Amino acid sequence: MTRASGQVESSVSLRRITLEQKRLQVILVRFHDERVGFAKAKFACEIALIPTLLIAPWHMRSSVTKWATGSSDCDSGDMASLRYTSGAMTVLDKTFYIETFGCQMNAHDSEKVIGTLVREGYRQVETEVEAGLILYNTCSIRDKAEQKVFNRLNDYKALHKLGKRFAVLGCVAQQEGERIFERAPYVSLVAGSASYRKLPEMLVQLEAGNKRITGLDDRQTDETFETEFTARSNKHRGYITIIEGCDKFCSYCVVPYTRGKERSRTSDSVLAEARRMADAGYTDIQLLGQNVNSYRDPSGKLSFAELLTAVGQLPGIRRVRFTTSHPRDFTRDIVEAIDAAPTLCNHVHLPVQSGSSRVLQRMQREYTREWYLERIGWIKAARRSISLTTDIIVGFPGETEEDFERTLSLLGEVGYDAVFAFKYSARPNTPAISMDDSIPEDVKSQRLQRVLESQREIQRSLYSKHIGEIVEVMVEGSNPARGQVSGRSSQNKVVNFTVDSPILPASGTYLDVRITQSFPNSLLGEAVVASYSYTDITREEVPVV
Ligand code: SAM
Ligand code: SF4
Repeated sequence: MTRASGQVESSVSLRRITLEQKRLQVILVRFHDERVGFAKAKFACEIALIPTLLIAPWHMRSSVTKWATGSSDCDSGDMASLRYTSGAMTVLDKTFYIETFGCQMNAHDSEKVIGTLVREGYRQVETEVEAGLILYNTCSIRDKAEQKVFNRLNDYKALHKLGKRFAVLGCVAQQEGERIFERAPYVSLVAGSASYRKLPEMLVQLEAGNKRITGLDDRQTDETFETEFTARSNKHRGYITIIEGCDKFCSYCVVPYTRGKERSRTSDSVLAEARRMADAGYTDIQLLGQNVNSYRDPSGKLSFAELLTAVGQLPGIRRVRFTTSHPRDFTRDIVEAIDAAPTLCNHVHLPVQSGSSRVLQRMQREYTREWYLERIGWIKAARRSISLTTDIIVGFPGETEEDFERTLSLLGEVGYDAVFAFKYSARPNTPAISMDDSIPEDVKSQRLQRVLESQREIQRSLYSKHIGEIVEVMVEGSNPARGQVSGRSSQNKVVNFTVDSPILPASGTYLDVRITQSFPNSLLGEAVVASYSYTDITREEVPVV
């Protein structure tokens, strides 16, 4: 730590000091703000530390004072053990690093967690090494997610010795619960997503030196995690969670156990958040939920389709997306709403999971192939051309070759613009884990490959139909090496295009693009209109995306 002219010249030393008594922190910060001499600030620190010094082991007292006053020669070993051996002493470094795994819901949860931490006085840093608190927001939907988390935590054992603290959040936290403390004793906080609303209280406990803080609400809570302090990472497109949890209990899925019961926010609160975002310049809003269309307004004012329309009517909003829709709750009025409002994107993600009614029944999806195809019929009958995408699971226990071929034939029948295909992965606590007719791993891999190959050809043909069309694209970035700008259409298709100008359009700009070429996963074109807002950087300086 550097210090010039005997002054406390940077905020670094004081920002690192977090005492149990917030009151004392305020005194320290005030001293810093007034840029008093170092001697006075040190004296204030020592006074502030008296209660802690009285209970700290005597041989560590000089380390406490040196560290608190920003001295570089304090014994780091002493400080690390002080933080962990003395529950009364709280010198948690209020910097944090967060790593997020999994779906959009998890990514957005992290944005809310970051906002909450910042509001509580924490500062986000770029690396684990710089952080006092390291958070892992985990996902356990597939594979050996829990093992991966433990391996990762193991990698960071060394960081724990430097006095860093660890929190495990998300689905693995909820699933493994207090077992995490047994296997990784240096983790201090374990919280599932249904407990995030209690995060400020959990942080107070963390700062007080508690070592086993849990937020494991299971399926008890009726509350949602709402905050005005979401730290959104994109300036133009923002997520809003409108419904949390899941009550469907598909036989293969952990979500109902890890994310709690289905609970919706009021339409007033969703609209207020969307309005704030529009005022802040967001034009593209994505409504999120494990089953977004299972939304039930607790105030009884709006249906899901009406909520979509209301968000789409807010001044400044140009695009509204929603994901993921569950076929059980997919109603005709959603299609009617998309037809009526151009701001609602013409794209529906409707996971089918399997094309075989026999497998769907074993999956407890509660619909048949025919029932699903009826909904697809409604979507295809819309006046606007609505893009369809889906999720598929291959190799579910008992899936025969005939069942699998029903899935392949469904892909051909529907004509999806994208398919997210997964090999079935046995998950703890789910009914499917005890189904004994499991499919060998190599058969699952072969089936996955066949889905991907078949789908590639379907997409090659579907995407080629766009050649000659003019589509509106929202710019997301650019690739100067290829001389291209990149963005997405309302149908959520990736469009790479050229502009007839040395200056590139800024992210968030909407442009009409004529499609000239197609590939199985993207379209190529050229901007039709040259009037757009510009980036303040030239082609050469634009970062590769
Ligand atoms: N709620 C949505 C629905 O029911 O359609 C899906 C949400 S889930 C988080 C995302 C996808 O993960 C599912 O559609 C499914 O394809 C996949 N998935 C869930 N559990 C799985 C498992 N045990 N093995 C493989 N894929 C799984
Ligand atoms: Fe999982 Fe089924 Fe709920 Fe989707 S509906 S989150 S697949 S249990």
